[in-house]
Amino acid sequence: MTGPPRDVDVLIVGAGPAGLAAAARLAAPGVARVEVLDREQQAGGVPRHCHHGGFGTWTHPLTGPAYARLLLGAAVRAGAVVRTGVTALDWAGPLALNTLGPHGLETIRAAAVVLATGARERPRAARLVSGTRPDGVYTTGELQQAVHLYRQRIGTRVVVVGAEDVSYAAADTVRAAGAELVAMVTELDRSQTTTARAQYARLRHRVPLLTDTTVTELLGHGRLSGVRVRHRDGRTVQLACDTVVFTGDFVPDHELARRGGLDLAPDTRGPAVDGTLHTSRPGVFAAGGVLHPGERAATATREGSQVATAVRELLEGPRSFHGKRPDLPQ
Ligand SMILES: Cc1cc2nc3c(=O)[nH]c(=O)nc-3n(C[C@H](O)[C@H](O)[C@H](O)COP(=O)(O)OP(=O)(O)OC[C@H]3O[C@@H](n4cnc5c(N)ncnc54)[C@H](O)[C@@H]3O)c2cc1C
Repeated sequence: MTGPPRDVDVLIVGAGPAGLAAAARLAAPGVARVEVLDREQQAGGVPRHCHHGGFGTWTHPLTGPAYARLLLGAAVRAGAVVRTGVTALDWAGPLALNTLGPHGLETIRAAAVVLATGARERPRAARLVSGTRPDGVYTTGELQQAVHLYRQRIGTRVVVVGAEDVSYAAADTVRAAGAELVAMVTELDRSQTTTARAQYARLRHRVPLLTDTTVTELLGHGRLSGVRVRHRDGRTVQLACDTVVFTGDFVPDHELARRGGLDLAPDTRGPAVDGTLHTSRPGVFAAGGVLHPGERAATATREGSQVATAVRELLEGPRSFHGKRPDLPQ
């Protein structure tokens, strides 16, 4: 049972960098009632479990959690209400969402809605890898949450699928968990990270990189016992491991956009937006990873600020930004 709908000015779905940056900029002048929802128990989006560096700037490098804390602080200080453990389930009208949180179902209506739902790595099932369904199969995000947020044991011998930046972040997490990295496996002929990072991993950590190689099958019942890989020349070999991490290959978290019947961009399958990040539905905007799966957090933060300007212009007319803008991390 839901009670009567509750009204806010701006409803933001997703408390990652894009949603928090948008909230900080929208609530800053103290005009709009801005509410941010996140289904996780903690705000911050993906960075909250990226304990490696790689956030912030060259002059002010940050870990993911530190970056998330800065953005959350800016949004809350600006006056935005950030509610965690609340999932936006579906649309209850053109600018209204049904939500489920600790106090049950609620319908929230807004003058503008921002979808900042981010992106996720394609899991094993979507990659059409054959074999059994054993334990010990992760994406990088799941691995980082298991190790850094929930302090779970992940196994002892790990194969990482992929060789891009996020794959090297997964390798760092494997080491942080005290497990052995058996190999990184990529279908491509070289890694997709910087030469410096690839060489550091190879020389310092002796990371074995198998190029031109595809993981074709997962083996083992109960717990993973190995993966079968095939080289481009047709040779196959079995790698003994109890954990495999599928990295990268990002797809937008576009469920709400899809359920709302918003137009989707043919290339990314995220919501289609115009130059002001307005979707095909008047009053509904989108920003961040849901538009650019796999981009860096700074891009999402920048876009969160940008969408705030567009939302404010919709609500108050052009040139409405008079207040002091809060400083946000890059
Ligand atoms: C493993 C990994 C490592 C990374 N490492 C780096 C790095 O080192 N440096 C860097 O710059 N970038 C890195 N990135 C990329 C960076 O994390 C993203 O660019 C950034 O998080 C995108 O921000 P966002 O706000 O768009 O989405 P997200 O951070 O994904 O946040 C979206 C939020 O929306 C919430 N949400 C989704 N749907 C709903 C719903 N229906 N109801 C309620 N809440 C919902 C989710 O719970 C999530 O918290 C990494 C990404 C990954 C996956």
